[in-house]
Amino acid sequence: MSENTEKPNDHKRLGRELDLFTFSDTVGKGLPLWTAKGSTVRRELERFIVDEEIKRGYSHVYTPDIAKLDLYIKSGHYPYYKDSQYDPIEVDDEKFMLRPMTCPHHFELYLRKPWSYRELPVRMAELAKLYRYEKSGELMGLQRVRSFCLADAHIICKDEKQAVEEIGKALDLIEYANGVLGLEMGKDYHYRLSLGDRNNTEKYYKDDGGWDKAEKMLAELMNERKVKYVEAKDEAAFYGPKIDIQMKNANGKEDTAFTVQYDLSSPEKFNLTYIGEDGKEHRALVVHRSSIGSIERTMAFLIEKYAGAFPLWLSPTQVKVLPITDNHLEYAKSVYEELQKENIRVEIDESKETLGKKIRGAKTEKIPYILVIGDKEIESKTVGVESRDQGQLGATKLEDLISKLKKQISEKK
Ligand SMILES: [Zn+2]
Repeated sequence: MSENTEKPNDHKRLGRELDLFTFSDTVGKGLPLWTAKGSTVRRELERFIVDEEIKRGYSHVYTPDIAKLDLYIKSGHYPYYKDSQYDPIEVDDEKFMLRPMTCPHHFELYLRKPWSYRELPVRMAELAKLYRYEKSGELMGLQRVRSFCLADAHIICKDEKQAVEEIGKALDLIEYANGVLGLEMGKDYHYRLSLGDRNNTEKYYKDDGGWDKAEKMLAELMNERKVKYVEAKDEAAFYGPKIDIQMKNANGKEDTAFTVQYDLSSPEKFNLTYIGEDGKEHRALVVHRSSIGSIERTMAFLIEKYAGAFPLWLSPTQVKVLPITDNHLEYAKSVYEELQKENIRVEIDESKETLGKKIRGAKTEKIPYILVIGDKEIESKTVGVESRDQGQLGATKLEDLISKLKKQISEKK
């Protein structure tokens, strides 16, 4: 899409204007390069979700971005997803592939030791870098890329009751995270129950009874939660039905943002088991889920939702200090240092421009707080505060401003 057909809040346009990310033909199509500013927003999102997941009983792990082709043959992802994966790479007579999915990596990690029923559910999460081949015509800013980071997890459960409970908890987490990100159910996102197709034996794992039961379980869960959802036939994963959280971008195109999936096939393929209360080995069950989905895609939604004016906790620069003239520079620098010491992301405008121009610059960058420093402020040991969202707040003591900002940041408002 050319620049002049882009909507004003199109994330590709805002990404350029606010210097959040870029692409280079030399690096390759669909492979985003994150600037320091874009990386800051992304890091805040990642910290938020990792901390929240740990609070909710997930353990966060790291597994490699590449693995032997055998692993994906075992999982069934290859050759099933062959067309959307990178071709295998041959090294020392062995074939490897950039990973398109995290699941088999987590299953192999689970298999390292025997597990007792008392240890289940095991909630294994990772901010996983994944690689998928998308046709160049399908690539779209951060929305559709060839390399992305999924806030992924696999929950190994002992029985159906536990699996359904865990699916419910995963939806609780998604709804909570969406709330923090300012996304409203019904307005910014809606639920979709994605079902299989018993006649399509090429696409879906064959287990008619298992599918019927799993689809019924998910529908019952959605009804119990009293949330509106649409049903979509033939939109399931190859291994089972799923609950998708759908969102629309600035151009009105709908995409799956987050997902919770019930897996009918992997426990058997990977022989995922646990020792039951009876001392015998039992087959475990698997739930796949992404909490805030692909970080790239979620960033695209958030950039468009806020039109680049991120809430304070996500803003790449939270405060900009504007000395009126060079005479005010020394005091402005001390203000800058005080803010920096408190972990508030701050910049100082040391240019020779007029105050009006400095203010306009900071506003174009959508910075939440502008601090003007002149004779008056130096004399009264204050800062002149202008808020992006509330307008002029006037002369304020720096320590009062710092405690107010720290409160807003920690509350993620
Ligand atoms: Zn998975």
